[in-house]
Amino acid sequence: MNAFTQHATAIAAATDTVPQTDPRAGYLEHRDRIDAAIAAVLAGGAYVLGQEVEGLEREFAAYVGVAHGVGVANGTDALSLALRGLGVGPGDRVATVSHTAVATAAAIAAIGAEPVLVDVDDARGTMDPAQLEATLAATRVAAVVVVHLYGQPADLGAIVPIVRAHGAVLVEDCAQAHGAALDGRRVGRFGDAAAFSFYPTKNLGSFGDGGMVTTDDAALAARVAALRQYGWGRERVSVSQGVNSRLHELQAAILRVRLRELDVDNARRARIAARYLEAFAGLPLGLPARIEGCGHAWHQFVVRSADRASLCAALDSEGVRTAIHYPVPVHRQPAFAGAATGPGGLPRTERLADTVLSLPMFPQLPDASVERVIDAVGRALGQPR
Ligand SMILES: *Cc1c(COP(=O)(O)O)cnc(C)c1O
Repeated sequence: MNAFTQHATAIAAATDTVPQTDPRAGYLEHRDRIDAAIAAVLAGGAYVLGQEVEGLEREFAAYVGVAHGVGVANGTDALSLALRGLGVGPGDRVATVSHTAVATAAAIAAIGAEPVLVDVDDARGTMDPAQLEATLAATRVAAVVVVHLYGQPADLGAIVPIVRAHGAVLVEDCAQAHGAALDGRRVGRFGDAAAFSFYPTKNLGSFGDGGMVTTDDAALAARVAALRQYGWGRERVSVSQGVNSRLHELQAAILRVRLRELDVDNARRARIAARYLEAFAGLPLGLPARIEGCGHAWHQFVVRSADRASLCAALDSEGVRTAIHYPVPVHRQPAFAGAATGPGGLPRTERLADTVLSLPMFPQLPDASVERVIDAVGRALGQPR
């Protein structure tokens, strides 16, 4: 039994708990290759913006289907630097959603721009095209940041033409959507640029922080590459006022190993999601929508329950750990309490914040644990099988 099998067996043991996520399982599964990649970087002697970062930039851009990738320190910086590279700055308004990780709004605020928070639609829980259109008609907005939340592609077929008609730039927040696709094309290539995070729990995760900007625009990629390192151009002379936001060579080496497994990992997530969807079909529980043409990356499997607290407590008492993404929408957080919102307010966002619950979901989640989750949910809802 290797370390991974031992670990998986331990997770599955009935006396143990089922974690909601487990990045360590991803390490143990590929331990030998990850350890070898780390050792090679340490022995190689080039530690900052070397061949591993370059290799990952090339390979990940090719995976997404665009020409350029620029590795940065984290997903929040990827958003900020993509926006700055597109000319967005202090005083500009940037439309995005409130039902997202607060990082999306923090990245906008970090460059002196102002988030304008738009509601989500009912089916996908991502940016509502109708309210976006009303927002852009009422307010001059320099950029739109669309979020593919939980791995569900946002309604880009409707959103892209609206953004273009209003002359704004479009950035995709793909932090939860590595490998998600729309009509057979991976997300990250529909906007002017996209931002990815490699935080440990993401679909493509490292063991620390990391991020990347992807784009087809060579000039934009060059501006972002300058901004991530003091604004340096050629000759190490600053051509813009940049920051230090470099992707670490060790993280890049690890990510190159894990990128080769990304499609396999996503397929395992999809199998778990299919099993949950099948088992929960008759229960009084809101389930993630399956939408024609959308390749969901299943970063999270999120159900909606009117009595979330009881469900959560019942699962917890059976050792099934859950999480809430996100209990407090951005516009209800003190730092963003004054943020502008779309016309009509954010009723769907508020309803989601009160009802969403993320069940255990990660590629190494053993089948026996998936069945334990299913049994526990059935019992909690009074319908044992
Ligand atoms: C994780 C995440 C980010 C931020 O990424 P970091 O690497 O943590 O900075 C941004 N947006 C969304 C939707 C995320 O889930």
